[in-house]
Amino acid sequence: MNVEIISVGTELLLGDILNTNAQYLSKELANLGFNVYKQVTVGDNIERLLNCFREAFEVSDVDMVITTGGLGPTADDITKEAATKYFGQELILDENSWQEIREKCAKFSGGADKIPENNIRQAMFPKEADVIRNDNGTAPGALFKKGSKKILVLPGPPREMKLMFIEQVLPMLQGNSNSILISKYIRFFGIGESALEIKLKNILEEQTNPTVALYAKDLEVMVRVTAAANSEADCEKLLCDKIKEISNICGEYIYLIGDDSISSSQTEMDKVVAELLVKNNTTISVAESCTGGLVTANLINYPGISKVLFEGCVTYSNEAKIKRLGVKKEILEEYGAVSSQTAEEMAIGVAKSFNSEIGVSTTGIAGPDGGTSEKPVGLVYFGIYYKGKTFSIKKIFSGDRRKVRERAAMEALNQVRILLLKNEKQ
Ligand code: ATP
Repeated sequence: MNVEIISVGTELLLGDILNTNAQYLSKELANLGFNVYKQVTVGDNIERLLNCFREAFEVSDVDMVITTGGLGPTADDITKEAATKYFGQELILDENSWQEIREKCAKFSGGADKIPENNIRQAMFPKEADVIRNDNGTAPGALFKKGSKKILVLPGPPREMKLMFIEQVLPMLQGNSNSILISKYIRFFGIGESALEIKLKNILEEQTNPTVALYAKDLEVMVRVTAAANSEADCEKLLCDKIKEISNICGEYIYLIGDDSISSSQTEMDKVVAELLVKNNTTISVAESCTGGLVTANLINYPGISKVLFEGCVTYSNEAKIKRLGVKKEILEEYGAVSSQTAEEMAIGVAKSFNSEIGVSTTGIAGPDGGTSEKPVGLVYFGIYYKGKTFSIKKIFSGDRRKVRERAAMEALNQVRILLLKNEKQ
C-alpha cells in the first residue's frame, strides 16, 4: 500500500516546531511494510491542503493519506473540512464524540456550562467516516473513506497522535494488510552505506516480499528486512531465506541479527562484545593511547563486565607506555609510538600485568595535526594479544578527531569480537 504523510500546521513551515510526527509515522509505517511514498508539510490553508489531496490521489496515485494536525476547535483548524470537501461529503454532529468532548472539557474547565461553543467543531464528522477516540486530548481522529481512497486524520500534539496510532490505528492497519508482518534487523560494521548498497543492488532493486531497506547509523549500517505472510512461520521462512541471501553476499560485515529491540541504537557492538567475553569467560585488559579510554568505557556500558575486564589504562605518553606497559624504549625510538611494533608491545604489556587472556591496544594519530605522508591523520594500529600470541592490525579512518577516536574504539571492539568468534569455532 502506498501512503503519503501530510503534516498540517503553519508553525511547521515557520520552523517553530520540529516535525517529529512525520518521522514517527514514517518509521512505524515502514515497520508495517507500507510504502511511504511522500511526506508533505502544508500550512493551515484549506485550498492548499485540498491541492495536496488532489496531488496525492490523482497524480501520485497513493492509496491512503495520513494527516496530523489541524483538528482543533478554531477556524484555522481545517483538516477535517478539507477531507470532507475533497470527498464531497458533509460534516454532521457525531453525538458520541460530542458527549465525550463535553465530559473532558467539563473536567478541566469546571462545569459543562463553561465549554467553549466552538468545541463542537471537534465532534463534526461525515457519516461515512470512522471516528477514532482521543484518549490523551479532546480532538478525535477519523478515517475518511471514498471508494478505495482513504484519508486518516490524526491530531497534531505528538502524545495524542502516538497513543491514538498505537492503540487504535495500528491494529486497524494490521487488519487492513490482511497478513502478518515481521521485521528483522541486520547490523553491519566495517562497510559504509554506499558500498553496502552496491553489494546489495540486485536485492534492493528486485525486492517485493520481503522488503529490504538500508539505514545509515553514526558509525555503522543497518538493514531492515520485512516479510508479509499469512502465518508467523511463513514470515520467518521468508526472512530466513532473505537473510541467508544477504549473508552470502556480505556476511563478513554482519555482527548482529535480531528483532526490533536492536534497531534504534547507534551501535550494539559494545553489548555484543561484552556478552561474548562474559559468555566465554574470557578475561581482557585494555591499553589505550589515541582512543583515550573509549574502548574500556564501551565495555563498561555492560553490567556484569567486571567478571572479565581486569583493567583499562590510558597510556598516552611514551613514558607511560614504557613505565606502565613495559614497551621497550628502542622500539619507540626505532618505529615510533604509532606503529605495529608499539601496538603489539602495549597489548602484551597490559595482558601480562594482570594475566588476562586478551590484551588489546590502540595507538594512532587522531589529528587534526601530527600526520605525515607515511603516517597520515586517521592511522591507527591495534595490538591484540591472545593466550601467548600477538598480532597487529592497521586501519586508516576518516573524519575529525572525535570521529577517528570513536571509529577506532569500535574497531578495537570489533577485532575482539572476531578473535572470540574464531576461537569459539576451533
Ligand atoms: P489541538 O487540538 O491541540 O489544536 P491539532 O490536532 O489541531 O490539536 P495542531 O493545532 O496542528 O494540532 O498542533 C498542536 C500542537 O501539536 C502544535 O503546536 C505542536 O506543538 C504539535 N505538533 C503539531 N504537528 C506536529 C508535528 N508534525 N510534529 C511535532 N509536533 C507537532
